[in-house]
Amino acid sequence: MNKKGHVLNAVLLSIGLGYLFVPVGDVETFKTIIMIGVPITLGALFPDVDTAFGKHRKTLHNLPVLLGFVAFPYVFGNLEYVWIGVLTHYVLDVAGSKRGIALFYPLSTQEYGLPTGVTVSSKRADFVTAVVTVGELALATMVVFELPQLVFELGRQLVGL
Ligand SMILES: [Zn+2]
Repeated sequence: MNKKGHVLNAVLLSIGLGYLFVPVGDVETFKTIIMIGVPITLGALFPDVDTAFGKHRKTLHNLPVLLGFVAFPYVFGNLEYVWIGVLTHYVLDVAGSKRGIALFYPLSTQEYGLPTGVTVSSKRADFVTAVVTVGELALATMVVFELPQLVFELGRQLVGL
């Protein structure tokens, strides 16, 4: 996907996550959207830096880079939420773009993609970006609302209550 697609994806995802975390739709919701939206959008732009430095869809499109951004806030105390932008960039490249990404680079140069992808120049690129974003938000909603209950139920069954 191109820069426009990644920004569209990051902004729509941030708005959705803002409403997911603070559903009231007031100033706090708006502040949350800005607080997470700026780092998510910057994170979503980061992987394509490898068009200039390294091998595109390999050097900065892999799991070690993502894990680095997940760990960064715990190690250095900043760059929270940037990993969400990097992750959503990968998801959009894998699910929305015809060419995949080398998830296991540098161990393997094999690129992984889904058949749902379209070419970057396709007229349907924006539509596919919106569909991928809706899918991500549906997954995020499940994680936020269903996962705690699922873990609770599993724990309850494990202790035999
Ligand atoms: Zn990319």
